[in-house]
Amino acid sequence: EDLFGPSRRNSQGFDLADPMTLARIDAARAPSATARWQAAPLLAGPAQGGPVHPVANPARPDDRPGDVQESSAADIETALAAAAPWAAPAPARAAVLRRAADLYEAHHGEIFALLAREAGKTLPDAVGELREAVDFLRYYADQAEGLEAPARGVFTCISPWNFPLAIFTGQIAAALAAGNAVLAKPAETTALIAHRAVQLMHQAGVPRAALQLLPGTGAEVGAALTADARIAGVCFTGSTATAQGINRAMATHLAPDAPLIAETGGLNAMVVDSTALPEQAVRDILASAFQSAGQRCSALRLLYVQEDVADGVIEMLKAAMSELSLGDPWHLKTDIGPVVTAEAATDIMEHIAAFRADGRVIAELSRPAQGHVVPPTLLSLPGGIADLQREVFGPVLHVATYKARDLDRIIAEVNAKGFGLTFGLHSRIDDRVQQVCGAIRVGNTYVNRNQIGAVVGSQPFGGEGLSGTGPKAGGPHYLARFAQAARHIDPA
Ligand code: GLU
Repeated sequence: EDLFGPSRRNSQGFDLADPMTLARIDAARAPSATARWQAAPLLAGPAQGGPVHPVANPARPDDRPGDVQESSAADIETALAAAAPWAAPAPARAAVLRRAADLYEAHHGEIFALLAREAGKTLPDAVGELREAVDFLRYYADQAEGLEAPARGVFTCISPWNFPLAIFTGQIAAALAAGNAVLAKPAETTALIAHRAVQLMHQAGVPRAALQLLPGTGAEVGAALTADARIAGVCFTGSTATAQGINRAMATHLAPDAPLIAETGGLNAMVVDSTALPEQAVRDILASAFQSAGQRCSALRLLYVQEDVADGVIEMLKAAMSELSLGDPWHLKTDIGPVVTAEAATDIMEHIAAFRADGRVIAELSRPAQGHVVPPTLLSLPGGIADLQREVFGPVLHVATYKARDLDRIIAEVNAKGFGLTFGLHSRIDDRVQQVCGAIRVGNTYVNRNQIGAVVGSQPFGGEGLSGTGPKAGGPHYLARFAQAARHIDPA
């Protein structure tokens, strides 16, 4: 099913198996190897600016990719006063968003460099991220052309550091495509990428009053932009707790019809039964749990392997893990880069240490000396999801074994946990696949493949329960939430 309109297709991306392509990308990144970017508020009026702080490279303590100037209280007021919905007709807005997609692609070298140096993204992750960002721009541009309903007004978009380009762009593109104005509050750790993205969107023709950037903290900028009566809606990706806080602030300060579109966390499981193809399961487990250093809300956190095949699958998994190369994502051979900050690394290492103290580490790799790299780790969790206390946002996979007769109970336990983002199933029994897919309550179920990297337009992405409000990003119903209900005029 292809839901794209006039753009017709997803981004072509880059074939990283082709050495010529790799060499071209390497050359395109090279001028940005030592660049120092500057991020600051981008407003439709004069910016005053707040404190400036340096940006760190999570892989390399001696590198400083740039500096970020936060927004002052006066800047927030300037932005709120100057924000004006994008009055251009839908086809004109769509054309500008498509031009922004083309500009992103043209700047791929600089974008890959930024994604490596500010966010610790490996090249395959960075390529995936750029593809998703341009897909969002083109997909929502296509959708906007069929949208009848008027814009809501001024949207606050609060985006996460784990997809500093793709989710940042997707939120903004949807709000703009529907004709709203956007106040964008990027994650504190990835403001350089956000700043560059907004510059490219302005260059493509998005009016400054329709798109303003406000770097800063959630406590200051985020709080101010979700508790002001001039805001018509909020789009947020991040933790469940923060989403609940935003919901409360909106209930107090915003109009009762203001939407909150939130994508939050997950405790995602995969079941591998005794009929699964072990080689394929292992490849998909590796990608689902460890790609992006496990820093995806879709990532696999808990693997259930059927008892009869568990030893074999885990041995193969350990062997495959030992082949991974960890370290600086600037090196093209790196499979697993750092986690986002020193604090994140400490938090994840403490989780692993608690399991080690109980003798429950199944496999771990040695930790590189430099950077905030957390080695991929397998931990034993015999009690399964009921014993998983929280979402550990890193390359850590918990493993439980199960007996065939317990499968229904496991599905019930996963559902009972209250999250509902992704679920993976490896099985070659059709009836079982049908039965599990019908019973599991998650937004995205993946069968006999990995469970990350939802593709815009063909795999609309988003969860239920504690995992998000819907509608799904990159799907046909997303844009309508950024618009008002079409007004009914009775001619009689
Ligand atoms: N859409 C991403 C995926 O399918 C995950 C987004 C997130 O981590 O917030 O892997």
